[in-house]
Amino acid sequence: MSEEKTLSYSFQAEVPVIAECDVLIVGGGPGGFGAGVMAAKQGANVIVAERYGALGGMASYGEVTPFMPNHANGESMDRPVFAAWRKRMWDYFSDEEKKLHPFDTGDKAPFLSKDIAMLAMEDLLLEAGAKILYHHTLFDVRKRDGRITEVLFHTKSGLSAVRAKIFIDSTGDGDLAALAGCPVEMGNSEGLCQPMTTCFKLDHIDAARKPSWQEIGEIYKKAKAEGKLDCLRENILAFGTLHDDCIHFNTTRIIRKNATNALELSQAEIEGRKEVRKYIKFLRENVPGFENAQLKSLAHHVGIRETRRIRGLVYQTSDDFFKRAKYDDAIARVNYPIDIHDPSGSGTTMHYMEKDQWYELRYGTIVPLNSENLLMGCRAISVDHALHSSSRIMPAVCSLGQAAGMAAALCLQENVLPKELDGKKVREALKKEGAFL
Ligand SMILES: Cc1cc2nc3c(=O)[nH]c(=O)nc-3n(C[C@H](O)[C@H](O)[C@H](O)COP(=O)(O)OP(=O)(O)OC[C@H]3O[C@@H](n4cnc5c(N)ncnc54)[C@H](O)[C@@H]3O)c2cc1C
Repeated sequence: MSEEKTLSYSFQAEVPVIAECDVLIVGGGPGGFGAGVMAAKQGANVIVAERYGALGGMASYGEVTPFMPNHANGESMDRPVFAAWRKRMWDYFSDEEKKLHPFDTGDKAPFLSKDIAMLAMEDLLLEAGAKILYHHTLFDVRKRDGRITEVLFHTKSGLSAVRAKIFIDSTGDGDLAALAGCPVEMGNSEGLCQPMTTCFKLDHIDAARKPSWQEIGEIYKKAKAEGKLDCLRENILAFGTLHDDCIHFNTTRIIRKNATNALELSQAEIEGRKEVRKYIKFLRENVPGFENAQLKSLAHHVGIRETRRIRGLVYQTSDDFFKRAKYDDAIARVNYPIDIHDPSGSGTTMHYMEKDQWYELRYGTIVPLNSENLLMGCRAISVDHALHSSSRIMPAVCSLGQAAGMAAALCLQENVLPKELDGKKVREALKKEGAFL
C-alpha cells in the first residue's frame, strides 16, 4: 500500500431520523439475536440493525460450525433464547432428517447449518416483536451529557439515524462502544489477538476410505516437514457434520492482523482463502477418500475470534475460570475451556473444566465505562484475553446477549441507567424466563 496520507474532509448533512425505539441493537450475530429476542419479549420496542442482509454473524457468513458445548452434566446451560434457536433450526429439518437426527440438546449433537441458522434467528426475532433493519452499517454516534442519543448508519440511501433510549453493542468488535468513547483493550500482553480463520466445508468424501484423524495428522505433518505445505496450524482442525461425506474445516490460520483495521482485514480475507486452496489441494492429492472432495461451502467473511474487549464496571480474568467462581449477580454460566489459538504462530493452549462445573460471568462485564445508556451484547465484554477465549463461544454469547436484552428492558421499566441497575435483579429476571442461573 502507498504511504499513508490524510485528507481533510468535513461535511454538514441533514440526516433523516428513520426510526425511534426503546432499544437499538447494533449487530445481528448470536449476541444481538439473544439481546433482541429477550428485550422484545419483555415488551420493549426493539430494533436490530445489521450491516449485512441476514442474521447470524459468524454463525452464518463466518461459516462457523459447530456450536461448542457449554453444558453441565450433559445439559445445555444456555436457555431460553439459545435453546429456542437450536430447536427452531431442528424444526427446519425434513422428516427424513428428523428421523435420522432426533432433537437432542446434549453435548454430542452440535448441529449447525448456516442457512438454517439465519432463517431460525429471523423467525424468532420477528415472532418476539423486534424489527430488523438489514443493510445498515454503523457509521457514528451522537452523544449528549454522556448518553448516546442517536446512532447513524451508512446505507444504500445515504446516512440515516435511529434514536433510542438504550443501546446495545452486538457488533462482536465493540464498534459502537469504541465510537461512544468507552475504554477498550485488545489481545494478549503484546496486543496480539487470536488468529483469524476462513472456515470451509468439503463434501463428496468417501467416508469408508478416509483414514483416522490421527493418520491424517501424520500425513499433514510429513507434508509440512517436506516443505510441500506451508500452512501455519500444528494440525488439521476439522469437525464432522450430520452428513458422513461432509467435513467442516476450521483450520486456516491468519496471524498478526487486527480485524478492526480495514486494510489488514481485507488482507486477511486474501490470506485465508490462499490457505483454503492449499488445504483442498493437499487433501485431494494426499489423503485417501478425499480424491473427489468438492467445496460445499466457504465463509463469506473471514472468521474473527478476537478484537476489542471493553472495560466495564467489572473486569473478570482467567482466575475466575480456575476458581470456578460463582457470583450472586451472575448473568451467564460457562463450562467451555480456555481455548487460545496461538496469536503469533502454531499451537493452541487449552485448559479444561470438569463436566459438572462452570464459572459465572457478572452483570458488570456487560456495562461499559464511560457511556451511560450502553450495554454489551456480544463477545467484546469486560474480561481478559484468556477468559475471552472461553466466553466467546456462540451459546455463551447468545446468553450474554439475552442478559443485555433483559437489562435494557429492566432499565426502561425502572427508569434507571445500566450502571444503576442491580445485577442480582437481572439474574432473578433471567431465571424467571427460564435461564439456568
Ligand atoms: C474461526 C472461528 C471458529 C469458531 N468456532 C466456534 C465453534 O466451533 N463453536 C462456537 O460456539 N463458537 C465458535 N467461534 C466463536 C463464535 O463464532 C463467535 O465468538 C461468536 O459468533 C460471537 O458472536 P457475536 O454476536 O459477538 O459476534 P458476531 O458473530 O461476529 O456477530 C456480529 C454481528 O454484528 C454485525 N456487525 C459488525 N459490525 C457492524 C457494524 N459496524 N454495523 C452493523 N453491523 C455490524 C455483523 O455483521 C454480525 O452479524 C468461532 C469463531 C471463529 C472466528
